[in-house]
Amino acid sequence: MLTWYDRSARRLGWRGQVDPYRIWVSEVMLQQTTVAAVGPRYTRFLTRFPDVQALAAADWGDLAEEWAGLGYYARARNLHAAAKAIAAGGFPADSVGWRALPGIGPYTAAAVGAIALGEPVVPLDGNVERVVSRIFAIETPLPAAKPALGRLADGFTAQPEMRARPGDFAQALFDLGATICTPRNPACAICPWRPDCRASALGIAATLPRKSPKTARTELHGVHFALTDAGGRLLLIRRPESGLLGGMLALPGTPWRSTPWADAEALAHAPVPELDWQPRPGFALHGFTHRELTMRVLAARVAELPGGESATLEQAGRSLPTAMRKLLPLI
Ligand code: SF4
Repeated sequence: MLTWYDRSARRLGWRGQVDPYRIWVSEVMLQQTTVAAVGPRYTRFLTRFPDVQALAAADWGDLAEEWAGLGYYARARNLHAAAKAIAAGGFPADSVGWRALPGIGPYTAAAVGAIALGEPVVPLDGNVERVVSRIFAIETPLPAAKPALGRLADGFTAQPEMRARPGDFAQALFDLGATICTPRNPACAICPWRPDCRASALGIAATLPRKSPKTARTELHGVHFALTDAGGRLLLIRRPESGLLGGMLALPGTPWRSTPWADAEALAHAPVPELDWQPRPGFALHGFTHRELTMRVLAARVAELPGGESATLEQAGRSLPTAMRKLLPLI
């Protein structure tokens, strides 16, 4: 595996370094976001927040703006909270210490532990689960199989070669899962595990890991209010800290609920209900994990916006989270 990695490792912006801050930021960004999307954003993020002190001292608004478009905004809030804890108390010495920081789960703690601290631990993400489930031909469906996959992955830590290079071993597993042991068409013929891979021998590799049937997506509906002034500035609000898009800039709107809103009912949530609110044609769709949100827009104009946050449409296109950006074409 390590010989294969030495030959075939992907060249990624965050590779080849052991700065725990940089490894941590890359791992948080990579959760739920593709390697291709993270690449340029990672570089930009580190230019703006080059070290943990800079991130800890940043205003939340600046961090939210930098994170806009990456999704899963709770990650950014936790990154900020953990940066403050590290700036005050120093970097944890091991993965157990990392695990105690806000928002750091077992995967991220193990990734930082293995890659930045050289600890013999195996971070278990979806890629690694897939590889392990295949090597050992585990047919129990996910998520029930997770604990067993974790124990099997931990078993690698008994091997002296792994213990000598835990960070490379973890990244080798990531790369193998991304490039060879891929979800649909694993390229077993060129895989370094093939002599020892049970799923490949049994001819069931592409069917693993098995998954329990998916729960259906819940529908959500919301109406958002586009209030613009004579200069074309748009009224924005900052969403509450907790919940979907927590702490991010947004257009004011109704709560999101499982049934559609009638316009008259939605108007009770408008910033200035007595204005002449006109429905804009069309709607915008946005998928959150297990939830599908349908949004409509009511628009009105005023000479001057009530106080609070505001932006031109162009600025809003840069600083709003993706779900909210989808409303801009309707406006
Ligand atoms: S041999 Fe095939 S199934 Fe097994 S780890 Fe390699 S690519 Fe995956």
